[in-house]
Amino acid sequence: KAADSAMYQAKERGKNAYYFYEERINAIVARKHTVSNALRFALRKNQLHVEYQPVVNLCSDKIVGAEALIRWNHPELGKISPAEFIPIAESTGLIFPVSIFVIESVCRFISKYRHKLDDDFSVALNLSPAILKQNFLLDKIKMYLNQYQIPAKYICFEVTENTLMNEMERCIQTLNALKQLGSKVSIDDFGTGYSSLSYLSKLPVDNLKIDRSFIDDILHDTNDTAITLAIISLAQSLKLKVIAEGVENQDQRLFLQQCSCEYIQGFLVSPSKTDTAFMMFLREYNEHCNTR
Ligand code: C2E
Ligand code: MG
Ligand code: MG
Ligand code: MG
Repeated sequence: KAADSAMYQAKERGKNAYYFYEERINAIVARKHTVSNALRFALRKNQLHVEYQPVVNLCSDKIVGAEALIRWNHPELGKISPAEFIPIAESTGLIFPVSIFVIESVCRFISKYRHKLDDDFSVALNLSPAILKQNFLLDKIKMYLNQYQIPAKYICFEVTENTLMNEMERCIQTLNALKQLGSKVSIDDFGTGYSSLSYLSKLPVDNLKIDRSFIDDILHDTNDTAITLAIISLAQSLKLKVIAEGVENQDQRLFLQQCSCEYIQGFLVSPSKTDTAFMMFLREYNEHCNTR
């Protein structure tokens, strides 16, 4: 009898687990549906904008660049993270208009503030694999550079490690063309993918960005410390610059400085800000770099 009852309970638990699982799947599907429908109108309704997160040179303690990060504020759904909607944009084709919007926004930003930016200031722009493959990408970029009258050296294109390794031939062509224009190229989220180290030396890249997941615990997880040190020394051997992402506290910053990591980005310096807020922050920060 006890066995029967135990069996019954297990069955019920199984059923509940099943329904729970099904409910969760339904909720995920429904949310994707809602977000992708809303994204169709986001551009037209001016719900998207680009923000800028500073990149700091650890030697000079100056802001030397920024990463452009897309933001979406929906009137009913609230703020939706790019980590959620970029993959949806990629699977629905909306990544094309969205990417073009970011490219134009970045060009407009640079042209508007160029007189206040150092000559070697650069804005990092994330490119999805889907758009990196398109032939029209290069023409669009050239068109906006021309329209806003800015040199390509002000833009640095970021692609993730796996994108590069999966679509080697095509990526190399496009990235070479972008470098020919005068732009720089970074490998984003480095360390999380599966680069072949021998290919790395042949790729047209200038910078490696150490993924935030290694920086989080860099002081306490000896594996993360080891990986970070290995990336920094790899970058030095290949004459690439290295940027640590997701630096949140002073201890991480000091440690990275001791490891001769050249650049950092993260909440310690600042989260992303709107263009005007960024420009105010930039002025303040660089004015006080000698007094900090
Ligand atoms: P990512 O390119 O690796 O960008 C860095 C992400 O880390 C950003 O998240 C940034 O806000 C966040 N971050 C920066 N510092 C810190 C920190 O100190 N602590 C923590 N916890 N997080 C930090 P965000 O803006 O949510 O973007 C997420 C991802 O979405 C980006 O990762 C990028 O892959 C993608 N993304 C953002 N904007 C664009 C875009 O315009 N185009 C494309 N294709 N992808 C974009
Ligand atoms: Mg990035
Ligand atoms: Mg990254
Ligand atoms: Mg990341």
